[in-house]
Amino acid sequence: MFDINKIRQDFPILKRTVYNRPLVYFDNAATTQKPQVVIDAISKYYEQDNANIHRGVHYLSQMGTQAYEESRKAVKTFINAEHDYEIIFTRGATESINLVASSFGKKYLKQGDEILLSGMEHHSNIVPWQIICEEKEAKLAVIPITDTGELNLTDIEKRFTDKTKLLAITHVSNALGTINPIKRLIDIAHKYNIPVLIDGAQAVSHLKVDVKELDCDFYCFSGHKVYGPTGIGVLYGKEKLLEEMPPYQGGGEMIRKVTFEKTEYSSLPFKFEAGTPNIADGIALKAALDYVSSIGLFNIALYEAELLHYATNQLLNINGLKIYGTAKEKAAVISFLLENIHPYDAGTILDKLGVAVRTGHHCAQPIMDWYGIPGTIRASFALYNTKEEIDGMIKSLQKVIEMFS
Ligand code: PLP
Repeated sequence: MFDINKIRQDFPILKRTVYNRPLVYFDNAATTQKPQVVIDAISKYYEQDNANIHRGVHYLSQMGTQAYEESRKAVKTFINAEHDYEIIFTRGATESINLVASSFGKKYLKQGDEILLSGMEHHSNIVPWQIICEEKEAKLAVIPITDTGELNLTDIEKRFTDKTKLLAITHVSNALGTINPIKRLIDIAHKYNIPVLIDGAQAVSHLKVDVKELDCDFYCFSGHKVYGPTGIGVLYGKEKLLEEMPPYQGGGEMIRKVTFEKTEYSSLPFKFEAGTPNIADGIALKAALDYVSSIGLFNIALYEAELLHYATNQLLNINGLKIYGTAKEKAAVISFLLENIHPYDAGTILDKLGVAVRTGHHCAQPIMDWYGIPGTIRASFALYNTKEEIDGMIKSLQKVIEMFS
């Protein structure tokens, strides 16, 4: 059962006020708030368990290693990967994509090749590819989007050519909320033997992800967008590809044997985890995933769909308000603009009224360019948000409109 009052009790920050008003936090696509269990896991590690992991023979090091590796297993279960060594810990989705762009790109990209993306990618799934493409004299190809903010899949099969080396695409758009038909795209790409990377940064907190069922080759996400800590993220990769790819960074932990002449690299996942990892946050990620699983992604998705539906209807009642991103399949993210009011001005006033939304291009400038707008106001919901909070946002938006009229 989904008990919203109990869930809200789990998040201490929701008790605070801003400008003497209760906090209404609708910037969940940027980062989610943390339940007490995650905060406790971080404090417990530093208060009681702190030690470097993987190499120590002493008690604390072994306990830490065990907890960190338990977390890897928890990620494996959470996304239903085949093996825990296919889970690489990174700093976040951005680093996961950089890892694949750099390592996969070094191994497989050559002059004239293409990386296929979509028109709704976050900069994190554009710029790393541009960097490696520049080095390899390869280029980006882009699946366009429609007015509703969905992928334009007309002629999609023709976009996979003998030059295409990888499809890298977002599961859920952070700017529009669109849920992409990634299973269909993965199946098409695989028909042409093209591997697929899914940017799941906006998906894992809203949808049940099963990498085995999807059959994607890479899947990545950030801990902090799924109620976990910042500074920890995940790259899932199929064993065969990860084995073939060269290391991303060199250093301690990722080696088996080092001499001045030659280094033998460690096995997966350590080959891709150079240096002391982010131990505390890695351990606390398990607490976050366990928390989400205890509520159940199915229940979360149902509840958030209700919030999305409620907010969309309320917003559409406001004169001069336009929603960007009206896909049939959407996560709980709404981007909109008020006629003749700059999103930054609206966002600043909403903030003073206690409503935290995001304004701007949301690190997805190509979509904003496509719509011909400077940015949007984005309200993004999480499992602890309520209809009453949405009512509060609507009232505040009406105040914004009054102030500008
Ligand atoms: N991809 C998408 C779709 C995102 O929304 C974000 C962050 O907003 C990222 C990637 C990058 O995530 P991070 O900054 O946590 O690495």
